[in-house]
Amino acid sequence: SKLTSLKWDKAPCRFCGTGCSINVATLDNKVVATHGDIKSPVNKGLNCVKGYFLSKIMYGKDRLQTPILRMTNGKYDKNGEFTPVSWDTAFDVMAEKYKKAMKEKGPTSVGMFGSGQWTVMEGYAAVKLMKAGFRSNNIDPNARHCMASAVGGFMRTFGIDEPMGCYDDFEAADAFVLWGSNMAEMHPILWTRITDRRLSAPHVKVAVLSTYTHRSFDLADVPMIFEPQTDLVLLNFIANYIIQNDKVNWDFVNKHTNFARGNTDIGYGLRDDHPKQKAAKNADKASGSTPIKFDEYAEFVSEYTLEYASQISGVEESRLLKLAQMYADPKVKVMSLWTMGMNQHTRGVWANNLVYNIHLLTGKISEPGNSPFSLTGQPSACGTAREVGTFSHRLPADMVVANPKHRKYAEKIWKLPEGTIPPKPGFHAVEHNRKLKDGEMNVYWVQCNNNMQAAANINEEGLPGYRNPENFIVVSDAYPTVTAQAADLVLPTAMWVEKEGAYGNAERRTQTWHQLVSAPGESKSDLWQLMEFSKRFKIDEVWPKELLDQSPEHKNKTLYQVLFENGQVNQYGIEEISKDHLNDDANHFGNYVQKGLFEEYATFGREHGHDLAPYERYHQERGLRWPVVDGKETQWRFKEGSDPYVTAGAGWEFYGKPDGRAVIFALPYEPPAEEPDDEYDMWLSTGRVLEHWHSGSMTQRVPELYQAVPDALIYMHPDDARKKGFRRGDEVKVISRRGEMKSRVETRGRNKPPKGLIFVPWFDASRLINKVTLDATDPISKQTDFKKCAVKLEKV
Ligand code: SF4
Repeated sequence: SKLTSLKWDKAPCRFCGTGCSINVATLDNKVVATHGDIKSPVNKGLNCVKGYFLSKIMYGKDRLQTPILRMTNGKYDKNGEFTPVSWDTAFDVMAEKYKKAMKEKGPTSVGMFGSGQWTVMEGYAAVKLMKAGFRSNNIDPNARHCMASAVGGFMRTFGIDEPMGCYDDFEAADAFVLWGSNMAEMHPILWTRITDRRLSAPHVKVAVLSTYTHRSFDLADVPMIFEPQTDLVLLNFIANYIIQNDKVNWDFVNKHTNFARGNTDIGYGLRDDHPKQKAAKNADKASGSTPIKFDEYAEFVSEYTLEYASQISGVEESRLLKLAQMYADPKVKVMSLWTMGMNQHTRGVWANNLVYNIHLLTGKISEPGNSPFSLTGQPSACGTAREVGTFSHRLPADMVVANPKHRKYAEKIWKLPEGTIPPKPGFHAVEHNRKLKDGEMNVYWVQCNNNMQAAANINEEGLPGYRNPENFIVVSDAYPTVTAQAADLVLPTAMWVEKEGAYGNAERRTQTWHQLVSAPGESKSDLWQLMEFSKRFKIDEVWPKELLDQSPEHKNKTLYQVLFENGQVNQYGIEEISKDHLNDDANHFGNYVQKGLFEEYATFGREHGHDLAPYERYHQERGLRWPVVDGKETQWRFKEGSDPYVTAGAGWEFYGKPDGRAVIFALPYEPPAEEPDDEYDMWLSTGRVLEHWHSGSMTQRVPELYQAVPDALIYMHPDDARKKGFRRGDEVKVISRRGEMKSRVETRGRNKPPKGLIFVPWFDASRLINKVTLDATDPISKQTDFKKCAVKLEKV
């Protein structure tokens, strides 16, 4: 009889960017079961092992239920013990710190770190509060560590962000090429679609490129292990092969592309006194380029011969030829897929540009099965982190703070005076940690991520900033993560279906869900926290006089009134919420705040290539892929007949660029920021495992997932282990110039590195591999390279 009382509702999965559709069963205000939705076009009823255990992520024994502040004798003390306090006390202390920092050092003394786990509305509210309210652009998402290079690649080549293709490409492609992506573990449901296609259509081939062998190699017809960073060479070699073998699609190239030589001024995003950075040329010009003709491009790539590519990458010539032929053969529809291997790269933007080059040279783009497809790691990396403008340089709908027209446009929608949004991009993620350490940024709020486990070089550049006595760190989380433990104030946070939300997945699909259960104790959604905190500030306390003089109507109002009651947010009445669903935020704020925020945000993109449907439609659908025009979603952007923005008769139109043409870039190979030497003699690459999502703060609390993979191992080649005198299971130290971690040697596991390289996952809070990694970044995207640094190993 209990079973018959179960109530089933829909939600997207809480974890990866695949965006599987889930059916969620609730009973007595608790999530008791989940399964993949058989009607879902994304996952067709399937879930990966993480998805199967979604019902357990909210019920870890150590779930935070009340704000906790470091205190001694009843007062805040940086070195005090965490002590439960009320929300009022928490916000009072926080507000005092914000006001003091901004009064003494101005708006750039405050910062915020968020993520693609924020709902669309939460990310949007955070951007508004930081960029318009506090007038600080120092907000960045952990997407900076994750796919900022993909954004840079899209913006440079196409002038508009996010993939042109969609998941329907999986059933239409003849060849799949994985560039630095272990989809079998990181995007397992999409991998089932590739596996299905490969096994049911015998002509289909799969090529997998990586710096070590992993589970995706089980399906590889063309397996390739390449030397770290030499993917740049391989991509230029393929372009050269296409040209040399007369396989350029001239009709497409002549009508739809331009050629440019990218600036090669370099820098590694390291501190100025780092020897490698000192030797670098001017990194500020890194994103510039000069138009060139096809002949100059052809000459540029002509250096990337088969012999050179094979010699520098270590991949056999015969395999490189098979790979190049897949792209060159006009009859083969190719889907290229990549994620962190290509994005977490000191030349990540270039790597993205170079993949597009080969699809553009052959015209294999924006049609079923021909699809360069950048995958995302987080559930709303696209929908929130990218689209609502949570990057320190961005505004909603691909706009940027540095562009006066874009700022004016945002200020108009927000009904705020001109000049509200500061023009200078804020500090990016890696700079956040450095500025906290240096005491330049003093108040910092982290929501929806675990940056003290996730950021590179946390030993030298992360933890010292959090524990800097000048700084006040606030962390909103559901669990006491490593990051929360390093904070001064921890705010208990509602998770997933404990609040209403919307996520946008890797194929531009926006999905919404209703609040299905209450959050435990005093936990509140990130959205509630952001909006409630904004009530603590009078606009006169945070805005300069010249801005207030332009907007006398705002005087004496709170930030909450100016930001959240002044725009379109407040126009939706509570009666519009279905009686069947909870909505704590709406009940608190007295309006349907999620809908109001979503609709206001949607006005940025409508008629600008990012059209979203009316909010309520998403509650009736299993998501829709934007642009949604006249009620119809878009499968292939830039293609006539599919994308409503393409001019009739154009065929393809890359309308993100003023002339409708995508750019093919001449970009060279550049060596990595750090390479093994006599002392630090091994490469280290880091990544994830199937069973745990990101830092494991949720999945490590699910007993079945914890028992399956309890701790992070050091995967290494048996010959390397033998040479160093290690046996499988020995505890060893991984040491870099920055820090060290300990774990056990694994020579037979699912990851099989070549000689000279070790792989260590980063999900394990008790073994922080990011104490070891290097915080070098791509000079254009500022994305961190977690895949390459030099280490040595010692027996404990
Ligand atoms: Fe699907 Fe990713 Fe969730 Fe697994 S983790 S069920 S692949 S969305």
